Amino acid sequence: RRVAVAAAARRPALTASGERVQVMINVADPAELDGIDPAICDGIGLARTELMFHAGAGLPDEAAQLAAYRRLLAWAAGRPVVVRTLDAGGDKPIPGYTVDNEPNSFLGMRGVRLSLRHPEVFRVQLRALLRAATDGDIRIMVPMVAIPGEMQRVRGLLAEAAAALGREQIPHRVPPLGMMVEVPAAALALEHFDTDFVSIGSNDLIQYVMAASRDAPGLGDLTDPTAPAVLKLIAMTVATAEARAIPISLCGDAGGDPAVVPALLAAGLRCLSVAPSAVGAVKQAIVGWEPAR
Ligand code: PEP
Ligand code: MG
Repeated sequence: RRVAVAAAARRPALTASGERVQVMINVADPAELDGIDPAICDGIGLARTELMFHAGAGLPDEAAQLAAYRRLLAWAAGRPVVVRTLDAGGDKPIPGYTVDNEPNSFLGMRGVRLSLRHPEVFRVQLRALLRAATDGDIRIMVPMVAIPGEMQRVRGLLAEAAAALGREQIPHRVPPLGMMVEVPAAALALEHFDTDFVSIGSNDLIQYVMAASRDAPGLGDLTDPTAPAVLKLIAMTVATAEARAIPISLCGDAGGDPAVVPALLAAGLRCLSVAPSAVGAVKQAIVGWEPAR
């Protein structure tokens, strides 16, 4: 059942000077999409896959993952779907996969670090994504990338998985491979990374820039997405991506806050991926925005 959506919500977001800003949505579970009209957005800018890995007993097999990715693509009806590879660790433990009792888990084995440590688990996800890619505009995004070597290794594993599928005569397609920019090292040296697109993860980027935990209460201004250091780094990242003609978006919670949207647009962003419930307010903030002269 699709909830009736006001015509305004389906309109593309244009700034006061007529510039188009893409608004995509973040999803954690394909079931969330029931009742959401895909016409309200420009696609899925972040599909978190962690939940899928928590749902059943053990890690989901290739068939289960393929079915989940196909469901996202079917909903999106031709719009892009950015699926993030497993981002476990830190605040997201998975028994039997993440490292127990890490003293400082946000600075330890998480995201792509864990995927590269467990290539047998990663390979299953890459195979499912390669197979789903024949169904629509899927794009693979890697979390927590800090150094260029990580993207090189992922690119290598993706090519190996594609070659294996080829030998098995299983239909597949190699989709774009992008990275999250949520570690300051990646933001500062983006020109060195082999990536087809970029999405800024402001939740982690802020915590690592400010040395202020994303879930410790009472840190107040230290977690403000409009802090000068954060905005400067975002603007730098946008400029580097644009100089390389690499598409860039932002998918952290900052993008869903209408009070923060003007600062993100001023930093140069023209694509935001936000919680489905925030789409209306974010579009309103975009429509009212005019660049400073
Ligand atoms: C982020 O860090 O901003 C992000 C989008 O990823 P997550 O919140 O899942 O860590
Ligand atoms: Mg993150």
